[in-house]
Amino acid sequence: MRSNPVLSAAATGTRCRSRERKGKAMNCKECADKLDRFVDRELNSTEVLELQLHLESCPDCQEHYEFEAELKRLVRHSCDCDTPPAFREKMRQLLT
Ligand SMILES: [Zn+2]
Repeated sequence: MRSNPVLSAAATGTRCRSRERKGKAMNCKECADKLDRFVDRELNSTEVLELQLHLESCPDCQEHYEFEAELKRLVRHSCDCDTPPAFREKMRQLLT
């Protein structure tokens, strides 16, 4: 009978694929790529959900996001007045 090897191969393939899909819906690179648009609220609801899921499980990206959000808020806040020197200094420290 030839059914056995076929069956086991199919079973292994399925298990591998489904586990990968569940385990990491989004990696840090994808997260960083979308962060900009997330802060600008340009993502669709599915993308937002995926991104939030990743942020919850990834402190690095969470920090990155908080920084981006803070930056956006400050930029919006100080549209035509000068950027506070303290903030500029902080930014330089974080970016280098
Ligand atoms: Zn991450």
